[in-house]
Amino acid sequence: MKLILRYALLLMPLLGLAQLKSPSEFLGYELGTQFTRHHEVVDYYQYLAEAEPQRMKLIEYGKTNERRPLLLATISTKENMQNLDKIREEHMKGLNGEGTPDKAIVWLSYNVHGNESVSTEASMQTIYDLFTSKSSYLENIVVLIDPCINPDGRDRYVNWYNQFKNSPNQVDPNSKEHHENWWSGRSNHYMFDLNRDWAWLTQVESQQRLKQFNKWLPHVHVDFHEQGVDNPYYFAPAAEPFHEVVTDFQREFQKTIGKNHAKYFDENGWFYFTKEVFDLLYPSYGDTYPTYNGGIGMTYEQGGSGRAGLGIITSIGDTLTLKDRIAHHHTTGLSTVEVAANNVNKLNDEFKKFHLKKDFKYKSYVLNGNPDKLELLTNLLSKHEIEYKAGSNSSVKGYNYATGKISSLKTTDKSIVISTDQAKGTLVKVLFEPMAKLSDSVTYDITAWSLPYAYGVNAIASESSFNGTTAVNSKPELKGVAANSYAYLADWNSMKDARFLAELLRNKVRVRYAHKPFTVDGIAHERGTLIITKSDNKNLKNFNKILSTASKNQNKNLISTNTGFVESGKDFGSSYVDVIQSLNIAVLSGEPTSTLRFGEIWNFFEQQLDYPISVLDEDYFARVDLTKYDILILPDGRGYNSFLTTYTKEKIKDWVKHGGKLIAMGGAIDGITASDDDFDLKEKEIKKDSSDTIGSFEISEREQIKSTITGAIFKATVDNTNPLAYGYDDTYFTLKLGARSYKYLDNGSAVYLSEGDNEPISGFAGSEAKKKIAETLIFGTEEMGRGQVIYMVDNPLFRGFWENGKLFFANALFMVK
Ligand SMILES: [Zn+2]
Repeated sequence: MKLILRYALLLMPLLGLAQLKSPSEFLGYELGTQFTRHHEVVDYYQYLAEAEPQRMKLIEYGKTNERRPLLLATISTKENMQNLDKIREEHMKGLNGEGTPDKAIVWLSYNVHGNESVSTEASMQTIYDLFTSKSSYLENIVVLIDPCINPDGRDRYVNWYNQFKNSPNQVDPNSKEHHENWWSGRSNHYMFDLNRDWAWLTQVESQQRLKQFNKWLPHVHVDFHEQGVDNPYYFAPAAEPFHEVVTDFQREFQKTIGKNHAKYFDENGWFYFTKEVFDLLYPSYGDTYPTYNGGIGMTYEQGGSGRAGLGIITSIGDTLTLKDRIAHHHTTGLSTVEVAANNVNKLNDEFKKFHLKKDFKYKSYVLNGNPDKLELLTNLLSKHEIEYKAGSNSSVKGYNYATGKISSLKTTDKSIVISTDQAKGTLVKVLFEPMAKLSDSVTYDITAWSLPYAYGVNAIASESSFNGTTAVNSKPELKGVAANSYAYLADWNSMKDARFLAELLRNKVRVRYAHKPFTVDGIAHERGTLIITKSDNKNLKNFNKILSTASKNQNKNLISTNTGFVESGKDFGSSYVDVIQSLNIAVLSGEPTSTLRFGEIWNFFEQQLDYPISVLDEDYFARVDLTKYDILILPDGRGYNSFLTTYTKEKIKDWVKHGGKLIAMGGAIDGITASDDDFDLKEKEIKKDSSDTIGSFEISEREQIKSTITGAIFKATVDNTNPLAYGYDDTYFTLKLGARSYKYLDNGSAVYLSEGDNEPISGFAGSEAKKKIAETLIFGTEEMGRGQVIYMVDNPLFRGFWENGKLFFANALFMVK
């Protein structure tokens, strides 16, 4: 059937019969009366590409975790498409303030949140109209359309909806079709929010998309979303706070676009709002990221989302239909292209201006540190096409991230230098500056993310240009693994080391590790050092091969030694040297947990550590035999009170007392420990400030933020004699996402806020919140019977980007006994 259709399409243009099919004609139902499955969307885009070969180019730029294709359509007039490479080149010369571009680039991104399912439907009508009734817009515009950024999430929603919908659809909001379950379609396969991932690139969709995005760096980028069913439409201009790098033109042009949308919405009598809620600060969104790359980045929000289905009665008694939702997103999409078409020269001039040398306070950032961590960071920079260089034997003076004071840092050829004097200079500033300047403290998201803290490297922000030398080759030279040594030693201070260990364990290698520092063959080794002995693995076939393969795979050098007799510290046979077993690990999923927090753990195991994990859903958790597992992880979440019945709680405690290791994170800590004297951990309470007066209704939001921390960075003290903190220095910069506070543990406080360290080093914390978190626990361990409880008050796996926290999680798995 399909073959015949394609053959016919090839002939049509020759016969002059080409009549482009609208989405409704192609799909066989009126657009808006059904949700279109992703493969049908792909079919329609392929159909268009075949029917419009001269005006459209369609590429598959990658695949999702569930193997769905990721598509990008490039469309313009026939003439423009013939000159596409030239148009792109002229545009990209703007990064150096050069070129004579005369076309504007508009990029429309749909359905980043899978259950905000109107987007992809609207994209089909939009591209169709750009080929037909609105084709005049294309004369000076290249439009790039990503019909679905998150196909796995979208299909999860659409398949669920089709399964549970009434026939005909039921507009009563109580009906099942308006209530997605816990595993909703919003996020991607690993339950990551792709609209928080543009800067960190932890997910395959983002990584592959950014390669395409960087080829074009559009003048205008729109990220189509949905919000609650009762909300009117939201479009630009965005709300405060704006990051200070957002230029006057970028602010102004948002208004220009907003006014054009308003014209159409007014004509139709549609409601909308602007300048509220959606701010431009956190750099990892689909609006801020393009903005920090010189474009006009915007979020558009339709009322609807996963609750709306094909139609739903709103709180004021109107019926919101999928057709309405399509009409609105379709209107703003076309209106955006129209505004760009009317402002081609302005957009090109301003794009060039944006990339001219800027007078930022800090001209260069200089980094020192663990080579594994520097390598990880430079890998991220490369993905953003940010240039970096190597340092030289010298020193640099400036703002020291670790101390918050002006000081000097010795540099070597291992140092990394990143200058703001480059095409991506603004992005460099946003990602590296020690503290983002807030024009307003009420924001939608975290207020601090500075990469040196996230990656755990020493850094200086320098006010003078510091020229690096050669290009950096950060990868260490790999030495072979000597055969037949008594033992092999591997250091332990990065996720690379954890991955190396995970690979050995997967291959049944028996690994020991040191609880005390030791010296052998004149080389000093820290706590946590892995010791892999020949005799432990004498029955393992291919032991040498497994070891050298793991060394190669993880790019990790081993030190071999022919003796277990140490010069200082404990010998390899000592009881201070433990064996790491191959572990069976389980994580709880479902209602008690947050989908995002569960997803971070799931992704950590499968995509970062590469170690198997069992997912135990709350539905049948009560029936699971926990003795099969060595470790149980309870992710952060708000639903623990109803999940942890007396039976379930006793079951978990009993398992711990018999040797199980429980890792409780965020809200799970309160869930499992509250009013239970079996646990030593106690919440910290503070008295409310009695001078609080009654405020007016209007300022209540401002009052409320006194008690909140919106993602701020604090300097924490580390007890690196605790196995939970092996491989760390004596300080750690933690990202605090809330003011939940617990007192220190008697001797298990591995990471904590010391006296006076309750002031954020970067980001915002309210005055009440600061009092509450003073002298409290961040990560700690507690023995219970023969088992262990590990507490993670802050989240070291947050959005997968806080690289320097991940080793704590690996320690919780492998080092804590
Ligand atoms: Zn959204």
